[in-house]
Amino acid sequence: MNFLDPLFQLKAIIALAVISAISLKFKLLDRDGVLASIPIGYVIITFGSLEYFVILLIFFSVSGAATKLRVKKLGANFLEKDWIRTWKNVLANGLAPALILLAGIAQNPSKLVIAAGYFGAVGTAFADTLATEIGLLYPRDPRLITSFKKVEKGTPGAVSPYGYLGGLAASASMCGLACAFKIGDPKILVAVFLASLVGMTIDSILGATIQAKYKCGICGKLTEKSRHCGQPASKVSGVKIINTHVVNLISTMIGATISVFIFTTLSYQTL
Ligand SMILES: [Zn+2]
Repeated sequence: MNFLDPLFQLKAIIALAVISAISLKFKLLDRDGVLASIPIGYVIITFGSLEYFVILLIFFSVSGAATKLRVKKLGANFLEKDWIRTWKNVLANGLAPALILLAGIAQNPSKLVIAAGYFGAVGTAFADTLATEIGLLYPRDPRLITSFKKVEKGTPGAVSPYGYLGGLAASASMCGLACAFKIGDPKILVAVFLASLVGMTIDSILGATIQAKYKCGICGKLTEKSRHCGQPASKVSGVKIINTHVVNLISTMIGATISVFIFTTLSYQTL
């Protein structure tokens, strides 16, 4: 058990320290983001493996790079999204993968079931992030996933062909990573690919429906933030506690569940 191996613990601490320093240096995360990433990273290394941690790092680095490229192309004020990753982003995208590994100790299922859940959660987060970033480059207005009406870019639940291409690329990359880390069981690949796309779609549906949306009393803009122009904005729809981070957390949990479901269903059929 990794948990009881002092040498492994030392390796985990060194890995976390190095990554924290790099994240701060290159502003991949702010200070609180780094603090939140340490327990998440520790759980993933200890109860999963260093490989699992590397997969999450690749997700954070690629999505951070995609955001930086978009900000460079469109400007930081183009979209009122937090573009420096904070502790909220870390928990929104890292909590579900960490919980799956913790659940793995309690339930002791096969390693492949845990892999299906883990990759399904990270795949959903990755697909959703790349879909958002690449979707913003779409030259026309996106449409709301529920009503299919044209909406402003950055509206929660807005979808576009570019966004889906980004999601497809992310889902395929997760399958590539699974193969690279020798978890390339075809049933896992099918499960992760489909679950990431479905998870990303569920994220959009939750964004369009239950996510809280506000109207600024000063400038009149519709926003997903509870404050605007330095003042509290009034809620127009959705549930108050469900912001974009809570939507991410819910959809990554659902993505993991769908991935495990597809994997186990395919496994039964081949028995
Ligand atoms: Zn305003």
